[in-house]
Amino acid sequence: MNNQKFETKAIRNQLERTQYLEHSVPLYLTSSYVFEDAEDMRASFAEEKDRNIYSRYSNPNTSEFVDKVCQMERAEAGFAFASGMAAVFSTFAALLESGDHILSSRSIFGSTHSLFTNFFPKWNIETSFFEVDGLDEIENHIQENTRLIYVESPTNPGVDIIDLEVLGNIAKRHGLLFIVDNCFASPYLQQPIQFGADLVIHSGTKLMDGQGRVLAGVTVGSAELVDKIYRFARITGPTLSPFNAWILSKSLETLAMRVDRHCENALQLAQYLENHPKVNWVKYPMLPSHPNYEIAKKQMKAGGSVVAFEVRGGLEAGRRFFDSVTLLTLSANLGDTRSIVTHPASTTHSKLSEAERLQVGITDGMVRVSVGLEHIEDIVGDIAQALG
Ligand SMILES: *Cc1c(COP(=O)(O)O)cnc(C)c1O
Repeated sequence: MNNQKFETKAIRNQLERTQYLEHSVPLYLTSSYVFEDAEDMRASFAEEKDRNIYSRYSNPNTSEFVDKVCQMERAEAGFAFASGMAAVFSTFAALLESGDHILSSRSIFGSTHSLFTNFFPKWNIETSFFEVDGLDEIENHIQENTRLIYVESPTNPGVDIIDLEVLGNIAKRHGLLFIVDNCFASPYLQQPIQFGADLVIHSGTKLMDGQGRVLAGVTVGSAELVDKIYRFARITGPTLSPFNAWILSKSLETLAMRVDRHCENALQLAQYLENHPKVNWVKYPMLPSHPNYEIAKKQMKAGGSVVAFEVRGGLEAGRRFFDSVTLLTLSANLGDTRSIVTHPASTTHSKLSEAERLQVGITDGMVRVSVGLEHIEDIVGDIAQALG
């Protein structure tokens, strides 16, 4: 690993040039690769050679993308997936056995929650949830069959912050794996391996692509664990396409400057909302009013692109707000150049029961704003007129 800065690596880390001396990374749309002779074919399949065989296993574009993410996260190895959920599922499926137990923070992405509660039980994998502000009690939840601790920070959609260093130490003390979904921060704002994470998962669909074009996922971390994930993935086939990897690699070249602006805009919007009479509360990691502001400052470079707030007046007022925005779009994505407003209770987290939603702070009037890269005055202007 060289000493170049993050921004430089994101641009200058690339494949060796071909005989055409291209400046930008070429796209390798090929499903398979040729062998020189019988011995090459045998040795390649015996894994005596580090080379591409078939694009379900590896491809120059997916390898280049993964290598970039590894440099950004300071990870040894990684594997790229067709979506963030493919990365989440494959990581657990590769590492867990029937009878194992997961310890997860309660506040997690809706589909991950559904995976833990609706699907894993049929393979006899159970999950216990701990509260974001209940790290003192987490050791009480550890069972003999607990294999790993799983968290997101900041969380979706409540932008809660969890102390990664504390969890990293607990995991180490009990010999558990520590896995972090780092999608809300991006590798530019936070690198969980530094706090003891064994694996880091991203939905590349969000800030990594950042332009609302492709679905992708990636898991990076210890080479030993990634090898197990690779063995599972090359057989089951959740692999990222070369085309999407090529798009993402280009996107990563501008990650730092995009995320800087996302964070500047989000902080300004959060400060504006904090003083608005029609807003009950605002949550953004870099507001001093955030319950875990000090932890956010310790582990993140800036607060990220998502601001959560509650419109005064409950569901009715919330609906009026969503029907009144004109510039901002109603959509389910986040981390896009375009600012997006989402109603978690009726969309991303609608599969949770109302009680489960309230446990993680998702009220009916809660709005999640993914603050984009439009001019901040236009973003604030639209939200101001929609609040009325
Ligand atoms: C979106 C998201 C995922 C899933 O990613 P997809 O690319 O949509 O499959 C996982 N975790 C978090 C925190 C997310 O926001």
